[in-house]
Amino acid sequence: MTHQPDLPLGRRVMAMIEDLAQHTDEIGRLTRLYLSPAHRAAADTTLSFMREAGLRAHIDALGSVVGRLEGSNPEAPALLIGSHIDSVVDAGRYDGNLGVVLGIVVTEALAAEGITPSCPIEIVAFGDEENVRFPTNLSTSYAFAGRFDPVWLDGKDAEGVSLRDALVAFGGDPLGISALARDPARYRGYLEVHIEQGPQLEARDLPVGIVSAINGITRARAHVIGEAGHAGTVPMTMRRDALAAVAEMIGIVERASSTRTDTVATVGVAQVQPGAINVIPARVDFTLDARSPDDAVRHAMVQDIVTECEAVARRRGVSFAIEPFMESPATPMHKDLTAQLEEAVKGIGVEPLRLASGAGHDAVAMATLCPTAMLFVRCKGGISHNPAESITLEDADMAARVLLDAVKRIVA
Ligand SMILES: [Zn+2]
Repeated sequence: MTHQPDLPLGRRVMAMIEDLAQHTDEIGRLTRLYLSPAHRAAADTTLSFMREAGLRAHIDALGSVVGRLEGSNPEAPALLIGSHIDSVVDAGRYDGNLGVVLGIVVTEALAAEGITPSCPIEIVAFGDEENVRFPTNLSTSYAFAGRFDPVWLDGKDAEGVSLRDALVAFGGDPLGISALARDPARYRGYLEVHIEQGPQLEARDLPVGIVSAINGITRARAHVIGEAGHAGTVPMTMRRDALAAVAEMIGIVERASSTRTDTVATVGVAQVQPGAINVIPARVDFTLDARSPDDAVRHAMVQDIVTECEAVARRRGVSFAIEPFMESPATPMHKDLTAQLEEAVKGIGVEPLRLASGAGHDAVAMATLCPTAMLFVRCKGGISHNPAESITLEDADMAARVLLDAVKRIVA
C-alpha cells in the first residue's frame, strides 16, 4: 500500500468549498450574484462554518459575513483575513471562496494547537467583488474602508431591482452601511488568499506566489474615421481604409505592452462600419485596456500608444480620436506584511516568487484601510471565471500552511 499523505488542512478547505459550491441561483451551473437567494444561503453556510470554528460571527448590513476570534489582548489592532463569496455567471468554485474558507481553517488550526492570538482575528466573506449584478465597484469591501458611495444603492440590476431593494430582501440594512466603516487604528492588516487566475505559477511549477502589486488600469475608447469606397474600383494608393489603419494600431498596442515588464494591453472590441465585404471600411471604433503594477509605466505606455497611433493616422489620411473613460491606480502590497508571507512561503520550502495581479480584488479596497498583502494559489491552466477552474488538494494544503504560518508570525 502506498503512503497517502494526510493533508488535514487541505481536506478541510476542499470540504468547505464543496459545501459552498452547492449554493447557486441556476440549476446545473454555479452562479451566485450579490444579494441573490444563493448568496444568502452561502452567507448562512459561511456563518455556521465560522460559529463551528468558535468565532463570534454575524452577517453585516451589506451582507458580508464577519467572524471574530478574540485575542489575549482584545484592545490590540486586529488582523483581517478574507475574500468574497459572490461569483460571476457560470463560475468556478474557488474564486473568492478559497480565501474565505482558508481564513476559517486557520482559526480552527490555531484552536487545535491551543494558540490564543495576541490580537483579535476577523475573518470576512465579502459579497460584491465581481460587480456583476449592480453597477458597483467592490462595494462591500469599500464599506469597510469607509468609502461606500451611497449612489450605489440606487444602481439597478438587469431586472430593474435596485441594490437598496435587493439588500432589504436579503435581510440587510441600507441605514446600517456607514457604521460598517472600520477605524484604521484598530486594524494591523488584511490578508487575502486567492487563486492566481493566470498561468504563471503553473508555468514555473510553484504551488503559491506572493502578490507584489495589483495592476492599475486605463480604459479608453478610440475612433478612427477614413472613407468608404468600392472595394473593386478604388486603387490601393488612393484609399483611406479605417480598418487597415486600426490593424497597424493594434500592432502598436501589442508592441508597447510586450516590450515593457509586467504590462499588458488589449484591444478587446473593434467595430467596423459599414462592415460589408465589398466596401472599404469607413470607420472603426475600438477599445483599449492597459494594465501595469506601476502607474508611471502604465501612463508612459498609454502615451506612447497614442503618439504612435496619431502618426499612423496622419500617414494614412484618417482621423484618430481617443477618450479614456476609466483610470484605476495600481495598488502596491504592504512591504512588511508581504515579507511575513514570503517567510511563510520559504518555510514550506517553496521559492517565494513575486508576481503582479492582473485582476482586481477586495484587497484593492482594503489597502485603503490598512496594510494589505496577498497570496496566490496555482490554478489549473490559469483558468478562472469558468466551471473548469480547479486547484489541487496538495496546493490547498500548502496555501493553508503558508497562511497559518504567516498568521502565527503576525499575531505572535
Ligand atoms: Zn475573486
